[in-house]
Amino acid sequence: MTASPTPLVIAIDGPSGSGKSSVSRAVAQRLNLAYLDTGAMFRALTWWCVHRGIDLEDQHAVAQAAKDLPLDMSTDPNSPSIQVDGVPIDEAIRATAISRLVSKVAINLGVRDELCSRQRALIAESIKTNGGVVAEGRDITTVVAPDAHVRILLSANQGARLARRAKELHGEADHAAVTATHDQIVRRDRDDSTVSQFMHAAPGVTLVDTSDLNLRQSVEAVLEVVRSKRAGAPE
Ligand code: C5P
Repeated sequence: MTASPTPLVIAIDGPSGSGKSSVSRAVAQRLNLAYLDTGAMFRALTWWCVHRGIDLEDQHAVAQAAKDLPLDMSTDPNSPSIQVDGVPIDEAIRATAISRLVSKVAINLGVRDELCSRQRALIAESIKTNGGVVAEGRDITTVVAPDAHVRILLSANQGARLARRAKELHGEADHAAVTATHDQIVRRDRDDSTVSQFMHAAPGVTLVDTSDLNLRQSVEAVLEVVRSKRAGAPE
């Protein structure tokens, strides 16, 4: 990819099932920017701790594991990939067991500090190599990149978020599938909310509600916010 002449950092936060990952990746592809999935970093650390037998209740040991984590991430939106210690873990980090445990790791403040530094370094690197990045997560608009050129909170009502994740996990959004998905959405967001504020748009952050939008429409809505911010931006 060739770097765009004016740097563009787009920060997108949102709860589980808001469509954040698919939308952010598609926006990065459309604008020829890098794509940074920060949730994958928390998932990779969780996988690494489980793999190494580190007790997730041991705050100090987990924070130290974050510092030592031999993480390698590609931010190419056409082929995002993640490795730890040379092992590709793209599929392993999406397992239900990791989704269930990841909040324990994410509420560790030592972990957040370390991953925030790494995320800022990856954003700086992406500006150099691609001219910018779409970075998505829970605290990107507020903590990691509060000075991003465009800051968006992608949200959707709980029913829409549950139905989407149920379809992803179970292939349908019937009652049983939605119930089985509850832990992945409601409990996880409640735990994550204790350390990050991603249910309401912070000052200066634009809310995009995707409850009634499909993927294509959500991507267009985000691109429209980017266009209008850029049109109003000083040269
Ligand atoms: O977005 P995803 O579901 O992959 O994120 C996995 C987990 O990583 C979240 O549930 C949250 O615990 C954590 N996370 C975070 N801050 C971010 C991104 C993700 O705490 N910026």
